[in-house]
Amino acid sequence: MFDTLSDRLANVFSSLRSKGRLSEADIDRTAREIRIALLEADVALPVVKAFIAAIKERATGSEVAQALNPAQQVIKIVNEELIGILGGETRRLQFAKNPPTVIMLAGLQGAGKTTLAGKLGLWLRKAGHQPLLVAADLQRPNAVQQLQVVGERAGVEVYAPQPGSGVGDPIQVARDSIEHARRTMRDIVIVDTAGRLGIDEELMAQAAGIRDAVSPDETLFVVDAMIGQDAVRTAEAFRDGVGFSGVVLSKLDGDARGGAALSVRHVTGQPIMFASTGEKLEDFDVFHPDRMASRILGMGDVLTLIEQAETAFDADQQQKMAAKLTGGDEFTLEDFLEQMLAVRKLGPLGNLLGMLPGAGQLKDQLADLDEKHLDRVQAIIRGMTPAERADPKMINGSRRLRIANGSGVTVTDVNQLVDRFFEARKMMKQMGGAMGLPGMGRRKS
Ligand code: GDP
Repeated sequence: MFDTLSDRLANVFSSLRSKGRLSEADIDRTAREIRIALLEADVALPVVKAFIAAIKERATGSEVAQALNPAQQVIKIVNEELIGILGGETRRLQFAKNPPTVIMLAGLQGAGKTTLAGKLGLWLRKAGHQPLLVAADLQRPNAVQQLQVVGERAGVEVYAPQPGSGVGDPIQVARDSIEHARRTMRDIVIVDTAGRLGIDEELMAQAAGIRDAVSPDETLFVVDAMIGQDAVRTAEAFRDGVGFSGVVLSKLDGDARGGAALSVRHVTGQPIMFASTGEKLEDFDVFHPDRMASRILGMGDVLTLIEQAETAFDADQQQKMAAKLTGGDEFTLEDFLEQMLAVRKLGPLGNLLGMLPGAGQLKDQLADLDEKHLDRVQAIIRGMTPAERADPKMINGSRRLRIANGSGVTVTDVNQLVDRFFEARKMMKQMGGAMGLPGMGRRKS
């Protein structure tokens, strides 16, 4: 899903990351590269233009110039703008005050409407609703049967004209289905309409007729993410011909580009509400713009982490630490304690780990263990005198015993901490001197 875009953006950002401060030329080049990445992923031109203009304006502003890590700041801006393009807030289904809630599906033939009817039906049933699927696609041979198969798999009743009953008017079927839903206490009616291969006036008029007959609470326009630039044109035609309140992106599993689908929100002004990612009824989910942006940027929820780190360490602290780590002043146990307290302000370690891509599963196991360990380390350092913290070499055997007793740990714990501290300090000197530390406020002047 959006692999091309993800890969491209990852490349743009990796060249940015090696930069301390960003010049205007850097920002121009980055904007150009992002533009190419979006165009290659099939994002529609007006969307690309608006996106790039916003990025450039913000990236040349004080937001980035004053940032301790400009590259991260640019990524944060791209993320925020991407969320905006994708619709901002998650848009959820609106239910009618007086049931049944009517959801009408519209879109080209093959877009995935019938499959979606089953997916939505199953999803709503699992959420405690009693949906009814309605076969108002009487055009395509087998459409009714296909919906019946899907309904059965979803465990949801299907309303369809009886074979041989002579009812051939989809508008009539749709109207009758609402009555049927009321009688049988169904609280949601999902109306599957006939698709069309291309934009076809007559079928468009039929969909509008069904719309007028059932007054849908939601009309979902289903669009195949694989149809490229046609997605935007089709969306505009449906917006003008039938109107819709939300978009469903289907077949996101199949497409490496998918950018056209991402443009639909910006072009039509209607939100993307669901994403379909496979042929199975379970391959379906609510569309969250923020999570999708984060996925496209390949960053888990690291952005939250960056924000939190920014608030935990103030600028002064960052400069001071950077000076120590790059080999200026001596790093002491006092600094170590200060750093640890700042990191702990970010919240339990388990939560921090959960924000890293891929580390989610480890979270529960590690959280408990490390919290206790950190408590111990904190207690030991607090048990030392300020002079000892500044120069741990002076802590002799009897003092170690006193510190251990005072902080409720063993002498071995104290020894380990002091030994590790010396090792860490040695390493920091080597590393810090050689390359500076990213993310710690290193500034090129
Ligand atoms: P309709 O004509 O709009 O009702 O489209 P269908 O629901 O019949 O779907 C057309 C084809 O696309 C079928 O073969 C579906 O199995 C397939 N399909 C639907 N949604 C998805 C999806 O999210 N991913 C994939 N890979 N295939 C899908």
